[in-house]
Amino acid sequence: MSDADLELRDIYRARRAIGSVVRRTRLIDSPLLSETVGADVYLKLETDQETGSFKVRGAANKLSRLSGEERERGVIAVSTGNHGRAVSHVARLLGVQAIVCISERVPRNKVEALHRLGAEVVTHGESQDEAEQRAREIQQERGQTLIHPFDDRDVIAGQGTIGLELLEELPEIDTALVPLSGGGLIAGIALALKSSSPRIRVVGVSMERAPAMVESLKAGKPVEIGEEQTLADSLQGGIGLNNRHTFRMVQESVDETVLVSEEQIARAMAFALHSHQLVVEGAGAVGIAALRHGKVEAVGQNVAVVVSGGNVDARTLLDVAGKHLP
Ligand SMILES: *Cc1c(COP(=O)(O)O)cnc(C)c1O
Repeated sequence: MSDADLELRDIYRARRAIGSVVRRTRLIDSPLLSETVGADVYLKLETDQETGSFKVRGAANKLSRLSGEERERGVIAVSTGNHGRAVSHVARLLGVQAIVCISERVPRNKVEALHRLGAEVVTHGESQDEAEQRAREIQQERGQTLIHPFDDRDVIAGQGTIGLELLEELPEIDTALVPLSGGGLIAGIALALKSSSPRIRVVGVSMERAPAMVESLKAGKPVEIGEEQTLADSLQGGIGLNNRHTFRMVQESVDETVLVSEEQIARAMAFALHSHQLVVEGAGAVGIAALRHGKVEAVGQNVAVVVSGGNVDARTLLDVAGKHLP
């Protein structure tokens, strides 16, 4: 794809390309949240997706655009979490070989999950950076296509299909709350929503611990920050000092960003379980946390919260839910 600005039609094209692989997820209403906020609040459940997060949308679109020759050579991803699962899953469905590079620190259960999805897992080094280095070496030796988790036009267009679904199911949408890390998710959704009406507010939500995009927006350029332990582990990681797409797109299209604390994330996860019988991971719960704790004002009448994923281990979830019984 060329480097011209991504357009709404790229998202429509993505939707057609990924239709057979990706689910249209539910939009449910949340009476309790609505009462708290004084508006009609809906949850967009990307926890419904196969592999448990929205990341299959971007991965499916990216893989759909590879040439026959590129498919022959396979794909490679660096990830411990949802991106690795999504790429492995979609690659297997399309009969493409996937390699996922991870550091030696990644816990065994996550490695096994990747194996089960049919990926070849390569462990290397002590950190994500070293794993990424190894991925680039393998890529040069064997010629696979590297699938970036967010800073890629086809990936962004794939995530944007959530925005199309929101517009169809809730045409009166006033505000969308979207979890924010590298920014692929929110950049795609904002493009879809703002193409329909620039007045729809798009709010990014990150965790207080190490919000790389929010710090970069403040600095006016991509900056690196240290990683900290957080319940929202899927929001960890930098945006890349050589960020090509998402930083600018977020800068231009996102109206506001807010931060939530670990305690607020924990309470939101417990709320989702107790009130909606939903298993939501920390990253998926940040939008709920922001609303419950009054972080966003003047949301209008119709509010959608993107619940981006549900991959949390049972021990963590039970611990959190037990501490915050209703
Ligand atoms: C990757 C991920 C995010 C963040 O998406 P970005 O495109 O990096 O902003 C949010 N929630 C979950 C569950 C994720 O896996």
